Amino acid sequence: TFRLDGRVALVTGGASGIGAAVADVFADAGARVVVVDLDGDAAERRAAELGRDALGLRADVSDPASAAAAADRAVEVCGRVDVLVNSAGIVDLAPAEELGQRAWERTLAVNLSGTFYMSQAIGRHMLEAGRGKIINLASQAATVGLLEHAAYCASKAGVLGLTRVLATEWAGRGVTANSISPTVVLTELGRKAWSGPKGDAAMKEIPVGRFALPREIAGAALFLACGASDMVNGADLVVDGGYTIR
Ligand code: NAD
Repeated sequence: TFRLDGRVALVTGGASGIGAAVADVFADAGARVVVVDLDGDAAERRAAELGRDALGLRADVSDPASAAAAADRAVEVCGRVDVLVNSAGIVDLAPAEELGQRAWERTLAVNLSGTFYMSQAIGRHMLEAGRGKIINLASQAATVGLLEHAAYCASKAGVLGLTRVLATEWAGRGVTANSISPTVVLTELGRKAWSGPKGDAAMKEIPVGRFALPREIAGAALFLACGASDMVNGADLVVDGGYTIR
Protein backbone atom coordinates (compact mmCIF):
# COMPACT_ATOMS: atom_id res chain seq x y z
CA THR A 1 0.00 0.00 0.00
CA PHE A 2 2.06 2.85 -1.30
CA ARG A 3 -0.37 5.52 -0.06
CA LEU A 4 0.14 8.67 1.98
CA ASP A 5 -3.47 9.52 2.74
CA GLY A 6 -3.73 11.83 5.73
CA ARG A 7 0.03 12.39 5.81
CA VAL A 8 1.74 15.78 5.66
CA ALA A 9 4.96 15.87 3.64
CA LEU A 10 7.41 18.79 3.49
CA VAL A 11 9.71 18.84 0.45
CA THR A 12 12.67 21.25 0.32
CA GLY A 13 13.79 22.26 -3.16
CA GLY A 14 10.24 21.31 -4.10
CA ALA A 15 9.90 24.00 -6.76
CA SER A 16 12.16 22.25 -9.27
CA GLY A 17 13.49 18.96 -10.56
CA ILE A 18 13.45 15.95 -8.27
CA GLY A 19 11.74 17.84 -5.43
CA ALA A 20 8.94 18.95 -7.76
CA ALA A 21 8.43 15.36 -8.93
CA VAL A 22 8.36 14.17 -5.31
CA ALA A 23 5.72 16.79 -4.53
CA ASP A 24 3.62 15.56 -7.47
CA VAL A 25 3.92 11.88 -6.66
CA PHE A 26 3.24 12.44 -2.95
CA ALA A 27 0.15 14.55 -3.70
CA ASP A 28 -1.10 11.82 -6.08
CA ALA A 29 -0.57 9.32 -3.26
CA GLY A 30 -2.87 11.38 -1.02
CA ALA A 31 -0.46 13.50 0.98
CA ARG A 32 -0.84 17.14 1.90
CA VAL A 33 2.37 18.65 0.51
CA VAL A 34 4.35 21.63 1.77
CA VAL A 35 6.69 22.92 -0.95
CA VAL A 36 9.68 24.79 0.51
CA ASP A 37 12.16 26.56 -1.74
CA LEU A 38 14.60 29.45 -1.87
CA ASP A 39 12.45 30.69 -4.75
CA GLY A 40 9.30 31.49 -2.79
CA ASP A 41 7.22 32.46 -5.84
CA ALA A 42 8.05 29.18 -7.56
CA ALA A 43 7.18 27.30 -4.36
CA GLU A 44 3.78 29.00 -4.23
CA ARG A 45 3.17 28.31 -7.94
CA ARG A 46 4.06 24.63 -7.43
CA ALA A 47 1.70 24.40 -4.46
CA ALA A 48 -1.11 26.04 -6.47
CA GLU A 49 -0.56 23.50 -9.28
CA LEU A 50 -0.75 20.65 -6.79
CA GLY A 51 -4.09 22.02 -5.65
CA ARG A 52 -5.70 20.15 -2.78
CA ASP A 53 -4.44 21.81 0.36
CA ALA A 54 -0.79 22.20 -0.66
CA LEU A 55 1.25 25.02 0.83
CA GLY A 56 4.21 26.92 -0.66
CA LEU A 57 6.84 28.53 1.56
CA ARG A 58 10.08 30.40 0.97
CA ALA A 59 13.11 29.35 3.00
CA ASP A 60 16.87 29.23 2.72
CA VAL A 61 17.70 25.86 4.24
CA SER A 62 21.32 26.94 4.79
CA ASP A 63 20.07 29.46 7.36
CA PRO A 64 18.95 27.70 10.55
CA ALA A 65 16.50 30.48 11.47
CA SER A 66 14.91 30.38 8.03
CA ALA A 67 14.67 26.56 8.10
CA ALA A 68 13.11 26.64 11.58
CA ALA A 69 10.61 29.34 10.55
CA ALA A 70 9.43 27.24 7.59
CA ALA A 71 9.19 24.13 9.77
CA ASP A 72 7.19 25.96 12.42
CA ARG A 73 4.89 27.53 9.83
CA ALA A 74 4.22 24.12 8.22
CA VAL A 75 3.33 22.62 11.60
CA GLU A 76 1.18 25.65 12.47
CA VAL A 77 -0.83 25.36 9.24
CA CYS A 78 -0.92 21.56 8.81
CA GLY A 79 -0.81 20.42 12.42
CA ARG A 80 2.27 18.22 11.95
CA VAL A 81 4.80 16.97 9.40
CA ASP A 82 5.00 13.20 8.91
CA VAL A 83 7.53 13.11 6.08
CA LEU A 84 10.50 15.38 5.31
CA VAL A 85 12.29 15.17 1.97
CA ASN A 86 15.52 17.19 1.83
CA SER A 87 15.93 17.83 -1.89
CA ALA A 88 17.28 21.41 -1.91
CA GLY A 89 20.74 21.30 -3.43
CA ILE A 90 23.26 23.06 -5.64
CA VAL A 91 26.33 22.13 -7.65
CA ASP A 92 29.33 24.30 -8.48
CA LEU A 93 31.98 22.68 -10.66
CA ALA A 94 35.71 23.40 -10.76
CA PRO A 95 38.93 21.44 -10.66
CA ALA A 96 39.88 20.98 -7.01
CA GLU A 97 42.95 23.18 -7.31
CA GLU A 98 40.78 26.04 -8.57
CA LEU A 99 37.60 25.67 -6.53
CA GLY A 100 37.03 28.93 -4.66
CA GLN A 101 36.19 29.32 -0.99
CA ARG A 102 32.77 30.78 -1.72
CA ALA A 103 31.75 27.83 -3.96
CA TRP A 104 33.08 25.32 -1.43
CA GLU A 105 31.32 26.92 1.54
CA ARG A 106 28.00 27.57 -0.25
CA THR A 107 27.82 23.98 -1.54
CA LEU A 108 28.46 22.56 1.93
CA ALA A 109 26.08 25.11 3.46
CA VAL A 110 23.12 24.21 1.24
CA ASN A 111 23.63 20.49 0.60
CA LEU A 112 24.94 19.36 3.99
CA SER A 113 24.18 22.04 6.59
CA GLY A 114 20.79 22.72 5.01
CA THR A 115 19.89 19.03 5.27
CA PHE A 116 20.94 19.11 8.92
CA TYR A 117 19.11 22.33 9.83
CA MET A 118 15.87 21.23 8.22
CA SER A 119 16.12 17.72 9.69
CA GLN A 120 16.70 19.24 13.12
CA ALA A 121 13.84 21.75 12.83
CA ILE A 122 11.32 19.18 11.56
CA GLY A 123 12.87 16.37 13.59
CA ARG A 124 12.05 18.17 16.85
CA HIS A 125 8.37 18.23 15.87
CA MET A 126 8.52 14.59 14.73
CA LEU A 127 10.13 13.45 18.00
CA GLU A 128 7.42 15.26 19.93
CA ALA A 129 4.77 13.49 17.82
CA GLY A 130 6.64 10.17 18.13
CA ARG A 131 6.46 9.58 14.40
CA GLY A 132 8.26 10.67 11.24
CA LYS A 133 10.25 9.73 8.18
CA ILE A 134 13.20 11.75 6.91
CA ILE A 135 14.44 11.21 3.36
CA ASN A 136 17.66 12.90 2.26
CA LEU A 137 18.82 13.33 -1.32
CA ALA A 138 22.38 12.07 -1.42
CA SER A 139 23.87 11.11 -4.81
CA GLN A 140 26.08 8.68 -6.67
CA ALA A 141 28.58 11.47 -5.93
CA ALA A 142 28.54 10.39 -2.27
CA THR A 143 30.43 7.18 -3.07
CA VAL A 144 32.49 7.86 -6.20
CA GLY A 145 34.90 10.67 -7.04
CA LEU A 146 33.48 12.74 -9.89
CA LEU A 147 35.75 15.14 -11.77
CA GLU A 148 35.36 18.79 -10.70
CA HIS A 149 32.83 17.80 -7.98
CA ALA A 150 35.02 18.24 -4.84
CA ALA A 151 32.52 20.30 -2.84
CA TYR A 152 29.50 18.42 -4.14
CA CYS A 153 30.97 14.94 -3.48
CA ALA A 154 32.09 16.01 0.00
CA SER A 155 28.64 17.42 0.79
CA LYS A 156 26.86 14.25 -0.35
CA ALA A 157 29.23 11.93 1.52
CA GLY A 158 28.39 14.10 4.53
CA VAL A 159 24.68 13.56 3.91
CA LEU A 160 25.22 9.78 4.16
CA GLY A 161 27.02 10.20 7.49
CA LEU A 162 24.37 12.56 8.85
CA THR A 163 21.58 10.18 7.79
CA ARG A 164 23.20 7.29 9.67
CA VAL A 165 23.41 9.34 12.86
CA LEU A 166 19.77 10.53 12.68
CA ALA A 167 18.74 6.92 11.98
CA THR A 168 20.67 5.76 15.04
CA GLU A 169 19.59 8.49 17.45
CA TRP A 170 15.92 8.89 16.56
CA ALA A 171 14.51 5.55 15.38
CA GLY A 172 13.80 4.42 18.96
CA ARG A 173 11.51 7.44 19.22
CA GLY A 174 9.62 6.71 16.01
CA VAL A 175 11.60 8.80 13.54
CA THR A 176 13.51 6.99 10.80
CA ALA A 177 16.01 8.46 8.33
CA ASN A 178 17.13 7.16 4.95
CA SER A 179 18.73 8.56 1.84
CA ILE A 180 18.41 8.18 -1.91
CA SER A 181 21.42 8.19 -4.23
CA PRO A 182 20.36 8.95 -7.80
CA THR A 183 22.52 8.93 -10.87
CA VAL A 184 22.24 11.91 -13.22
CA VAL A 185 18.76 13.38 -13.68
CA LEU A 186 18.54 16.10 -16.32
CA THR A 187 17.03 18.76 -14.07
CA GLU A 188 18.42 22.28 -13.91
CA LEU A 189 21.16 21.01 -11.58
CA GLY A 190 21.82 17.90 -13.67
CA ARG A 191 22.13 19.89 -16.89
CA LYS A 192 24.63 22.23 -15.26
CA ALA A 193 26.92 19.30 -14.46
CA TRP A 194 26.31 16.87 -17.33
CA SER A 195 25.38 18.70 -20.54
CA GLY A 196 27.26 17.88 -23.74
CA PRO A 197 29.99 15.29 -24.42
CA LYS A 198 30.72 14.86 -20.70
CA GLY A 199 27.14 13.65 -20.24
CA ASP A 200 27.28 11.35 -23.29
CA ALA A 201 30.40 9.70 -21.87
CA ALA A 202 28.86 9.38 -18.40
CA MET A 203 25.71 7.81 -19.80
CA LYS A 204 27.76 5.03 -21.44
CA GLU A 205 29.00 4.04 -17.99
CA ILE A 206 25.48 3.50 -16.66
CA PRO A 207 24.54 -0.17 -17.24
CA VAL A 208 20.89 0.69 -18.07
CA GLY A 209 22.23 3.12 -20.70
CA ARG A 210 20.39 6.27 -19.77
CA PHE A 211 19.97 8.91 -17.10
CA ALA A 212 17.15 8.74 -14.53
CA LEU A 213 13.84 10.57 -14.75
CA PRO A 214 12.66 12.77 -11.86
CA ARG A 215 9.65 10.49 -11.33
CA GLU A 216 11.94 7.47 -10.95
CA ILE A 217 13.59 9.16 -7.98
CA ALA A 218 10.19 10.22 -6.64
CA GLY A 219 9.09 6.56 -6.76
CA ALA A 220 11.96 5.63 -4.44
CA ALA A 221 10.98 8.50 -2.17
CA LEU A 222 7.37 7.27 -2.07
CA PHE A 223 8.56 3.86 -0.89
CA LEU A 224 10.64 5.46 1.87
CA ALA A 225 7.75 7.76 2.86
CA CYS A 226 5.01 5.13 3.14
CA GLY A 227 4.34 2.30 5.59
CA ALA A 228 5.94 -0.29 3.28
CA SER A 229 9.39 0.88 4.45
CA ASP A 230 8.78 1.01 8.20
CA MET A 231 11.71 -1.37 8.92
CA VAL A 232 14.07 0.46 6.56
CA ASN A 233 16.28 2.81 8.58
CA GLY A 234 19.69 4.32 7.86
CA ALA A 235 19.66 2.89 4.35
CA ASP A 236 20.85 4.50 1.15
CA LEU A 237 18.50 3.58 -1.68
CA VAL A 238 20.65 3.65 -4.81
CA VAL A 239 18.73 4.63 -7.95
CA ASP A 240 21.54 4.83 -10.46
CA GLY A 241 20.92 2.20 -13.12
CA GLY A 242 23.94 0.29 -11.79
CA TYR A 243 26.48 3.10 -12.14
CA THR A 244 28.18 2.60 -8.77
CA ILE A 245 28.23 -1.22 -8.59
CA ARG A 246 30.65 -1.77 -11.44
P1 NAD B 1 17.13 21.48 -9.16
O1 NAD B 1 18.16 22.51 -9.42
O2 NAD B 1 16.19 21.12 -10.26
O3 NAD B 1 16.28 21.85 -7.87
C1 NAD B 1 16.87 22.26 -6.67
C2 NAD B 1 15.92 23.19 -5.95
O4 NAD B 1 16.52 23.53 -4.70
C3 NAD B 1 15.63 24.51 -6.70
O5 NAD B 1 14.25 24.75 -6.77
C4 NAD B 1 16.34 25.56 -5.84
O6 NAD B 1 15.68 26.81 -5.85
C5 NAD B 1 16.28 24.91 -4.48
N1 NAD B 1 17.30 25.45 -3.57
C6 NAD B 1 18.60 25.71 -3.86
N2 NAD B 1 19.21 26.24 -2.79
C7 NAD B 1 18.29 26.30 -1.80
C8 NAD B 1 18.32 26.78 -0.46
N3 NAD B 1 19.44 27.30 0.08
N4 NAD B 1 17.17 26.70 0.28
C9 NAD B 1 16.04 26.18 -0.26
N5 NAD B 1 15.95 25.74 -1.54
C10 NAD B 1 17.07 25.80 -2.29
O7 NAD B 1 17.98 20.19 -8.66
P2 NAD B 1 17.56 18.64 -8.62
O8 NAD B 1 18.31 17.96 -9.68
O9 NAD B 1 16.11 18.46 -8.48
O10 NAD B 1 18.28 18.21 -7.25
C11 NAD B 1 17.54 17.84 -6.10
C12 NAD B 1 18.47 17.09 -5.16
O11 NAD B 1 18.88 15.86 -5.77
C13 NAD B 1 19.75 17.84 -4.81
O12 NAD B 1 20.07 17.61 -3.47
C14 NAD B 1 20.77 17.20 -5.71
O13 NAD B 1 22.07 17.32 -5.20
C15 NAD B 1 20.28 15.76 -5.73
N6 NAD B 1 20.75 15.00 -6.87
C16 NAD B 1 20.54 15.45 -8.14
C17 NAD B 1 21.01 14.72 -9.22
C18 NAD B 1 20.84 15.19 -10.63
O14 NAD B 1 21.54 14.70 -11.52
N7 NAD B 1 19.91 16.10 -10.91
C19 NAD B 1 21.70 13.51 -9.00
C20 NAD B 1 21.89 13.07 -7.70
C21 NAD B 1 21.41 13.83 -6.64
